[in-house]
Amino acid sequence: MKSIVRILACVAMLSFAAGAHAQTARPVQTFDTSAGPVKITPVFHASLAIEAGGKVIVIDPAKPANFAGLPQADLILITDIHPDHLDTNLIQAESKAGTEIIAPAAVAKTVTTAKVIGNGEKTTWGAWTIEAIPMYNTTASRGPAPGKLFHDKGRGNGYVLTYGGKRFYFSGDTEGIPEMVALKNIDVAFICMNLPYTMTPEEAAVAVKAFHPKIAIPYHYRGQDITVFKKALEGTGIEVRLLEWYPAA
Ligand code: ZN
Repeated sequence: MKSIVRILACVAMLSFAAGAHAQTARPVQTFDTSAGPVKITPVFHASLAIEAGGKVIVIDPAKPANFAGLPQADLILITDIHPDHLDTNLIQAESKAGTEIIAPAAVAKTVTTAKVIGNGEKTTWGAWTIEAIPMYNTTASRGPAPGKLFHDKGRGNGYVLTYGGKRFYFSGDTEGIPEMVALKNIDVAFICMNLPYTMTPEEAAVAVKAFHPKIAIPYHYRGQDITVFKKALEGTGIEVRLLEWYPAA
């Protein structure tokens, strides 16, 4: 009996240690704003959690993202219809009573409870302002088939979220489109870079240089050498933070 108790205690300790490790290993970023800190936790690929003022926003919860140790969402933002962004099982898992969802119309065909905002539209949620920014491909040769693009203009939303005077940009899946280049006063930019779906790290650097956020963080970069992005922005005054978005399971 005693040994069983000891084994159980051991198992409990081990699983606690594993859980704690998974949490501390996440490269959580905290940003000061006039309304208090904004904590952003990279979870996987394009999936992330934002915590501020006691509220939680989750962007693109999609498998195999593991949200263990993070609170469920008060608001879920979805960028697009592809399975690395739209995952109804994980939306459900990250939802609780009263969780709101904001998404483009194409996503709301599947997630029928979503409040729809489209490119160029703006809404508020609590202390946050949410702007939907276009995200799309421009390079036809990278499409899934002749004459087709992975991301058509108007379908998906990138987002600029403003809280306590700080502006956070989440690009969604896009190339360095004019609407990105025209962004103003971005404090922190989360920028996609992977082929064939979005753009190269070099192209991402050119776009980022143009709108000049204070901090740029590659995400949605599977298979790319993100040090190329960092190197290309050396000397520009833009701080590049390379974070691990693909933790081993
Ligand atoms: Zn994607």
